[in-house]
Amino acid sequence: MAEIQIKGVGKSFGSFTALHSIDLTIADQEFMVLLGASGCGKTTLLRIIAGLESPTRGEVWIGGKRVDQLPPRDRGIAMVFQNYAVFPHLTVYENIAFGLRMKKLPQPEVDTRVRRTAELMHIEQLLKRYSGQLSGGQRQRVAVARALAMEPDVILMDEPLSNLDALLRLEMRAELKGVLANSKTTTIYVTHDQVEAMSLADRISVMNGGRIVQAASPVEVYRNPAARFVGSFIGNPPMNFLPAEKHGDGRYHVAGLSLAGPPGAAQKLEFAIRPEDLAIAPGGLKAIARVIEPLGAHTLVTSEVGGALFRAVLDSDIRIAPGDELSLVPKPDRIRWFDPETSSALKAVP
Ligand code: ATP
Repeated sequence: MAEIQIKGVGKSFGSFTALHSIDLTIADQEFMVLLGASGCGKTTLLRIIAGLESPTRGEVWIGGKRVDQLPPRDRGIAMVFQNYAVFPHLTVYENIAFGLRMKKLPQPEVDTRVRRTAELMHIEQLLKRYSGQLSGGQRQRVAVARALAMEPDVILMDEPLSNLDALLRLEMRAELKGVLANSKTTTIYVTHDQVEAMSLADRISVMNGGRIVQAASPVEVYRNPAARFVGSFIGNPPMNFLPAEKHGDGRYHVAGLSLAGPPGAAQKLEFAIRPEDLAIAPGGLKAIARVIEPLGAHTLVTSEVGGALFRAVLDSDIRIAPGDELSLVPKPDRIRWFDPETSSALKAVP
C-alpha cells in the first residue's frame, strides 16, 4: 500500500511563497499528474515528496507513515528528474542495475530486471554503451528504466519525456502508460504539457500560483473546470468566455443569445463554452469571422463576439471567409457558468 498524503504543505523561499498550504491525497496505485505553467510550484511539491526539499510547514505521509523528516532513501520511492542523474562512467546496463545492486539482489534477478526494463524503453541495444556517449533522449530513457527496474511503491517523475523528439515522445508516452498501469506503483508525474497530462493521468492536479486549483479526472477537468483558470489553461484552443447579464425576464443575455442561467445566480456571470461545442445554425451568438485555419480534420475559426476573441472548431467542409457574419449555437449541455468575482464555476443547469 502506498497511498500518499500531503497535509497542509507550504513552502517559502525567503519572502516568496512557492506553495500555499497544499492538501492532496493520492490513492495507492494511482497515476497523478501535477500540471501547470512554469513556476506554479510543481517541481517544488515533487521535491518535497521526494525529500530533496523540506516543507516550511505541513506533513507528507507515504503508505501510512510520516516521511517528511526522513531522507529520500528511506521513503520507498524512485525518481526520474529533469536532470536525470545517469552516471556517465557506467554502462547503460550498470546504470539500470545500480539501485538493484545497492539492494543486494541476486545477479540473475538483476539481469532479468535490467533486460526487461531496457526492452520496455527500447534501449536493449545500448546496454554495453557508456552513458556518457548517449544522446539526451537516450539518457532520459536510461533514467526511466533505472527507476522502473527498482519496482518501487512510488515513482516520482519530473518531465521525463522532455528531451525526446515528438514521435518518440508519443510512443514512450503510450508505453509508460502501459508499463505503469500494469505495475503496482503509485505515480506522481510533473508536466506542463496538457496533452501528456490528459493521456497519462488517472487524476490531474491543476496548479496555479502555488495552489492546486482542481484535482480530478482528465475528463472532469476538461468538461467541468472548477475555475476559470482551468478552462483557460486546458484545451487547445482553450475555453471561450463571454460576459452574461440577467435581464428583466430572468434570462441571461450573451451576445444576442438568451439563455436560462443557473437558478438564483448573480446579475452578472461569465458564460463559457469549448470551441468544439459550437455549431453554425440560426439564433446563436453573433460573431464576425476573422481568421480561418483549415486543420485537416477540422477548421478553426477565430471570430469576434462583442469585441472579444472567440474560437470555434467547425466541420472542415464549412465554407467561411474573413468578415462573414456567423451565428454560433452552443450545445446546451456543454455551457458552463463562472462567477466573475471569484472565477469559480457555478453548477451547470441540469
Ligand atoms: P517549471 O515547469 O519551470 O519547472 P515549476 O512549476 O516546477 O516550474 P518550481 O520549480 O516548483 O516551478 O518553482 C516554483 C517557484 O519557486 C518559482 O517561482 C521558482 O522561481 C521558485 N523557486 C524554486 N526553487 C527556489 C529556490 N531554491 N530559491 C528561490 N526560489 C525558488
